[in-house]
Amino acid sequence: MDEEPQRLPVRAFIGLGSNIGDRCATLRSARAALDELPGTTTIAFSPMIETEAVVRPGAPPQAPYLNAAAQLETSLGPRALLDALLDIERDRGRDRADAERWTPRTLDLDLLLYGEQIINEPGLTVPHPHMHEREFVLAPLASIAPDALHPVLKRTVGEMLESVRSRSGASMPESGSPG
Ligand code: ADP
Ligand code: MG
Repeated sequence: MDEEPQRLPVRAFIGLGSNIGDRCATLRSARAALDELPGTTTIAFSPMIETEAVVRPGAPPQAPYLNAAAQLETSLGPRALLDALLDIERDRGRDRADAERWTPRTLDLDLLLYGEQIINEPGLTVPHPHMHEREFVLAPLASIAPDALHPVLKRTVGEMLESVRSRSGASMPESGSPG
């Protein structure tokens, strides 16, 4: 990860989610880990919001998630940043080798936006391919960066959140958890 050349710092946004164990402690520890990444500073961290788990049709219900979003300024390249996120997930107990998608997660970290770069590589798609359709991603993100731009859709985070909310007809409850 430190084999990449030094770059000018880029503004990147990370989506965080947890639905097993002490979710709040997990997100706090992930926040601390983000802050310790080389060449990286956490500029903002959203309040944590509680959201219903999205489950595959017919699958048993899952415990609700706690979600948050972080704004980083980082000189890590996008691939190095994603690898670091996956390391942080792994350290906190989510074994990707046997974990299926849509299963309960100690910690899920997604690279949502990396500046205004558009990346489509095996194992790395930025902007995150589902961010624009997930209220649980957009709601915390809008609380720290409503004007951040989705470089493919050319829409701001605030606009995408509006669309998702008007389609779903209801907004999600805010949790009482401290940010
Ligand atoms: P999701 O977060 O979309 O619900 P997963 O966390 O299970 O699904 O998917 C993780 C996989 O997706 C990782 O192995 C990673 O390589 C890949 N991936 C591709 N682009 C991204 C991205 N922008 N952020 C996080 N993971 C990504
Ligand atoms: Mg993920």
